[in-house]
Amino acid sequence: MPLVSLLRCPDYDNRRLKNTIRQSIGNIGFDPRVFHNARVVVKPNLLVPSRDEKAIVTHSEFFRAAVQVVRENGGTPVLLESPAIHSLARTVKKTSYARVVESEGVAIGDPSRTRSLHYAHAEIFRHIDISEEYSDADVIVSLPKFKTHGITHITGAVKVLFGAIHGLEKSKMHLRAPTPVSLAGFLLDLYGAMHYAFAPSKPILHLMDAVCAMEGEGPGTSGTPRWLHAVLAGENGIAVDFVAAQIAGIDIEKVATLTEGFRRNYGVSSPEDIRIAGASIEDLRMDDFRPATGSQGFSRVFRWPFNTPAFRNMLLDRPVPLADRCTLCLQCKTICAAGAISKPENGGKTPCYDYNICIRCYCCLEICPEAAIIKKRGHLQWLTENRGRP
Ligand code: SF4
Ligand code: SF4
Repeated sequence: MPLVSLLRCPDYDNRRLKNTIRQSIGNIGFDPRVFHNARVVVKPNLLVPSRDEKAIVTHSEFFRAAVQVVRENGGTPVLLESPAIHSLARTVKKTSYARVVESEGVAIGDPSRTRSLHYAHAEIFRHIDISEEYSDADVIVSLPKFKTHGITHITGAVKVLFGAIHGLEKSKMHLRAPTPVSLAGFLLDLYGAMHYAFAPSKPILHLMDAVCAMEGEGPGTSGTPRWLHAVLAGENGIAVDFVAAQIAGIDIEKVATLTEGFRRNYGVSSPEDIRIAGASIEDLRMDDFRPATGSQGFSRVFRWPFNTPAFRNMLLDRPVPLADRCTLCLQCKTICAAGAISKPENGGKTPCYDYNICIRCYCCLEICPEAAIIKKRGHLQWLTENRGRP
């Protein structure tokens, strides 16, 4: 029966965070002796270079406290993450992680070396290329940030493992898995591989930073920081995500990584299986947490006979760059795996979007450093909304 630790933590004070993390580990019965003489990959969410206060990345002080707890138990922490566009070294350099990595003497891993992980029980993707550093590690400590997400509804312990895939390969996965359910299927294959395909298997600890989370149009620059004052921990990431979603009052029927995750029964098959240690959900629940709007019609639109540009344009949000904010950095063009974005034409002030090619993955919106991309509704989008599951 999966156990999730849920503790209140008011801020990112180092002493308080360390105590909270130690207590969280104790609450779930995770044996810290596994850290002794172990190479411990510590994987935060470092989607883009961003300041801690924006709540896009796992707070650098949360990372610091986690590596200190690993080290006090005899482990050697290694920072590992594959950001959306930039290299890990550049992302670290442009964030508060630079200070933490230097003062704590943490090595930075190389996410670009990859190897194929084979998971025979995967439902769709049996071979997934992930950073080889995960194979080299003895223990994995994942540090998800709890945020809203336009497609998967939330990003947390399951979704953060997407960062095990190198660089732009992540955005290419949206071409192969374009709907919330198919993307969740891929993420759960990856989750299953990370938990069950290593031989020998590795302990994986999920320590979630929900002290300051993100609401609204997450998970990137368009989202809004929201203090939830919570630290969650568990060895079952699906259970951790479920508890976080409950605190935020998210309708779990809309979160395909949870509904599909329960169906797959990766150690948890329903909310009733989950036990919580520490605070209760009621203690920390936020009644007015704003979910991402998302496009509820995805699953219907990406299905024959509706999977055509004309239907997508009518029934789904389209990403639109705003001239008054755009700096023409063209990072959106770099990340667009569909090739739907090109340089501005005729002296235009924004990149050109081809909505007949756009698959509505919203990667451009996630990574735009200026929050210059908004979603505009399709003319007939109301037809696909408020009709049950996404
Ligand atoms: S829309 Fe954003 S990511 Fe694209 S060019 Fe403009 S500022 Fe850069
Ligand atoms: S334009 Fe943006 S939303 Fe459309 S496919 Fe490209 S990255 Fe995805």
